[in-house]
Amino acid sequence: MLIWYAELSSSLKDIIYWMPYGLAAVTAMLAIQFNRRQLIVVVLVNTFSYWLIVQYLQQPLDVPEAKMAFTLVCVFIPCNMVLNLLIKENGSKTLRAFLHYWMLIVQALVITILINYLSVDAQSLIENWFAPRPIDGLVISSSALAISTLCLVIAFVRLAHRPTSLTIGLFFSFVASIFPLAFLDREAISSVFFSASMLIVLYSGFRASHELAYRDELTGLLGRRMLFERLAGLSKNYTLAMVDIDHFKKFNDTYGHDVGDDVLAMVASKLDQVEGGGQVFRYGGEEFTVLFKGKKLDHAIAFLDDIRELIAETPFAIRDKSNREKASKSARKENTKPKNTVQITVSIGVAEKSNQHANAEEVIKDADKALYKAKDKGRNIVVG
Ligand code: GH3
Ligand code: MG
Ligand code: MG
Repeated sequence: MLIWYAELSSSLKDIIYWMPYGLAAVTAMLAIQFNRRQLIVVVLVNTFSYWLIVQYLQQPLDVPEAKMAFTLVCVFIPCNMVLNLLIKENGSKTLRAFLHYWMLIVQALVITILINYLSVDAQSLIENWFAPRPIDGLVISSSALAISTLCLVIAFVRLAHRPTSLTIGLFFSFVASIFPLAFLDREAISSVFFSASMLIVLYSGFRASHELAYRDELTGLLGRRMLFERLAGLSKNYTLAMVDIDHFKKFNDTYGHDVGDDVLAMVASKLDQVEGGGQVFRYGGEEFTVLFKGKKLDHAIAFLDDIRELIAETPFAIRDKSNREKASKSARKENTKPKNTVQITVSIGVAEKSNQHANAEEVIKDADKALYKAKDKGRNIVVG
């Protein structure tokens, strides 16, 4: 868009000019629907920054008003973008969210007042600390660039700590919003990059909601809905395994449901290491499905047996819940350390799709039958 901008017709240029606002509206609606404060904050930060640039920065930066606006927007974007990532998401209509929106509105008001009433007084201050165009081709001042870099590093550390579709989206929308500040001189750069920034969060919002629908929260595995969607797209040549944890009811009764959940998540992560092209889904409860696309029964059994053995040989560390509840505060610290280890085994039933199977449900039924056989044979075994 930047390359061809000069040759575009004026009506197309108008569309590009309004695009950030249009995308902001769409993203805001999605953010409210998805109950995500972080998305709304990005929309507010980007919209206000774009408005500032359109309003005050269409004149040479030597004009005091423009210089003030540029300095403030260069600090406003990185500080707010990183703060947004650091403040934990807890919904778009909570007290925390409204305080955050208010904080932004107050900042916007202060910035507008500073630009209009204090821009001339602050010239020497800006020249000393935030002189624009430190080198040829770069508009953002060295100090503002340093602040942006620091904020980007903090945001990246935050992202690396817990990467989700949303935090990845928030990080890259931040990067996109910094771009027009660095290269402000290029025509239409702010329209293009604020649009890009908004599109990135819009996309990550969609991805996050997709994950909400298809991913199981406890184990992080894909859920049953996705399994059936995948199976619907396969007509022949696949092998499917049903995996069930042995004596899990007894385990729950002994250690409690919470510890049961912990173990379920650990077993899921071990299962997910299955090789040979198997993809793992949580079928429901303590049952999992492993799908081998385009693979034969023998191939699948070999890899499933490896994973069965791996699970049986892994001691699962659990925290003793009864002790933890009774423990005093000082002793609790000690007790949250792994206390016991338990042995967990799984039984696996496998079935290969053949011409006798009219649909995927029948393959699942056959795998279930094999699973019953595995349980009958004494558990901790793969039956095909
Ligand atoms: P078997 O070896 O025959 O499979 O014995 P089992 O006790 O595992 O029997 P079954 O598979 O029927 O037991 C399912 C139990 O799994 C019932 C319930 O207590 C437990 N369970 C199912 N879903 C969950 C869950 O999400 N969390 C926890 N903690 N337990 C679950
Ligand atoms: Mg079961
Ligand atoms: Mg079981």
